[in-house]
Amino acid sequence: MSDQIPHLPAYDEATLDLSFAVLEEDVRVSAAAAASDPEAFRLLWLGRKQGRLKLISEAWLKSAPAEARKPLGIRFNQLKESIERVLAAPAAATGPAVPALDVTLPGLVRQPGIPHPLLTTMDRIVEVFHHLGYSTELGPQVESDFYNFEALNFPENHPARDTQDTLQIAGQASKPSRDRLLMRTHTSPVQIRTMVAQAPPLRIVIPGKVHRNDAADATHSPIFHQVEGLCVGPDITFSDLKGTLDHAMRALFGTGVKTRFFPSFFPFTEPSADVQISCIFCGGAGCRKCKHSGWIELLGCGMVDPAVFQAVTGERRRLGLDDTPYDPARVSGFAFGMGVERIAMILHGVSDIGYFYSGDMRFLEQFA
Ligand SMILES: [Zn+2]
Repeated sequence: MSDQIPHLPAYDEATLDLSFAVLEEDVRVSAAAAASDPEAFRLLWLGRKQGRLKLISEAWLKSAPAEARKPLGIRFNQLKESIERVLAAPAAATGPAVPALDVTLPGLVRQPGIPHPLLTTMDRIVEVFHHLGYSTELGPQVESDFYNFEALNFPENHPARDTQDTLQIAGQASKPSRDRLLMRTHTSPVQIRTMVAQAPPLRIVIPGKVHRNDAADATHSPIFHQVEGLCVGPDITFSDLKGTLDHAMRALFGTGVKTRFFPSFFPFTEPSADVQISCIFCGGAGCRKCKHSGWIELLGCGMVDPAVFQAVTGERRRLGLDDTPYDPARVSGFAFGMGVERIAMILHGVSDIGYFYSGDMRFLEQFA
């Protein structure tokens, strides 16, 4: 240990407390050696010429302003007592300092963690489809243009491919357009990846995070979650799609829930439909939550467009795989997708999507 005395920058109470706390800690540390060599410890602190106490007295006490003499003196004496205590019983002073324990104080309660409400909702949706024999597939969030758009039948100039809507990865301009990387805008590329890797029949459910170049508001977030499903085999029909989703909606929202299908458009399905469920709050009578229509729009779906099967076939051929299993003349299929945030908002009556990402414990604790 250095026998230099630390500089005392000021004489106010806080500085004195801090400076003497450092010295008390030095005493405690050097006391470890006092048991085997008490004389060295005594010389270090109490030596008549170069002892630290003597040096402190010269450096700090003698130059102290009059009003600081008393507070400085009190602390100096306390330090001296600590040193003398070590010399009286060296072995006892070497243990770590143990603060007094007041058993009457309330304890530190460790909050058990809970799954985030979005994860719980996602798990709930996925589980419904697991019971129908679907298996879970996952894919990367950084995706190529081919898997996110081209294979899903988005035309070259589709607005979704614009940087206004899609977050593009920088420095991709020199690559062919199919290889350019972007943040996936939906979980659908996992459908393509799975079909390229596996022959039908196929029943998969795809939960995951997706990214859009969207401004955040009460119902939009640039990052959100989807669950998609895909079923491919010989003779899969629109009736299978209707029956599957009708069952899934009743499993999720209660057996009294009705579904209805409206014509819609997605590049990767033909025909396409939007699915509404009867309002879970008013049972269809009309209320504020369903804007007095009795129905809530929940998901999109449709029969897989033959162009998607052709893209999968082309990619399998490019990779040297068997290019026959997804011949549109031999297989058909349906796909559906839903927003996890929207379903969680409906299930829990949450009015602003931002609450899910705020990290506000007062919000999250309600799901414990
Ligand atoms: Zn309603």
